[in-house]
Amino acid sequence: MQVTTVVACLDLEGVLVPEIWINIAENSGIDELRATTRDIPDYDVLMKQRLTILQRHDLRMPQIETIVTAMRPLAGAVEFLQWLRRRHQVVILSDTYYEFATPLMRQLEWPTLFCNQLDVDEQGRIIGYRLRQHDPKRRAVEALRALNFRVIAVGDSYNDLSMLAEADVGILFCPPQNIGIEYRQFQMARTYQELRDAFLQVAAPAAESTQQAQGRGRGTSAPTA
Ligand SMILES: [Mg+2]
Repeated sequence: MQVTTVVACLDLEGVLVPEIWINIAENSGIDELRATTRDIPDYDVLMKQRLTILQRHDLRMPQIETIVTAMRPLAGAVEFLQWLRRRHQVVILSDTYYEFATPLMRQLEWPTLFCNQLDVDEQGRIIGYRLRQHDPKRRAVEALRALNFRVIAVGDSYNDLSMLAEADVGILFCPPQNIGIEYRQFQMARTYQELRDAFLQVAAPAAESTQQAQGRGRGTSAPTA
């Protein structure tokens, strides 16, 4: 069976919104919270460290909600996502938590989000976290491909590499220099325009002809008879 329907799987932080933990660090003044998967690739080690720091500083969920609510998507992210969702099904695959991400999802116009859940006690202390499964981004891509979707994945960091490798096409978006150098097998985009161009280039021809048939085609393709 010919597979033509594209699902775009996008990382959230670093691709559509700033790093949430770095914003929490900056707004709370707790510098130790700046570490991300760019610094500590083992997510469990990173997350346990974060919870210990939160407890030590008594930083609770209401304060964190206030910080995240003040965050804005990256410049151009909303428009890029609107463009992409007109062309393809889009799923956001993130290692963040629904409790953190909701204010940002509102600004992104509620795309589908697969992520994780926090355990918060009655006093608003974050006492644990629940990951749905091991390697969830790669497993999501694997499952979508098993449903005969063609998957184009976009991410920026270590926690995206297995997802990019599992996808039909993996694209690094504004990665840190060391990842960009080390993982040259993936395509690279440094702006949303480059990311749009990458999607136009690699997406299934069927999607392109549908767009043109609807009079919304872009670019310089020769007219069809
Ligand atoms: Mg990221």
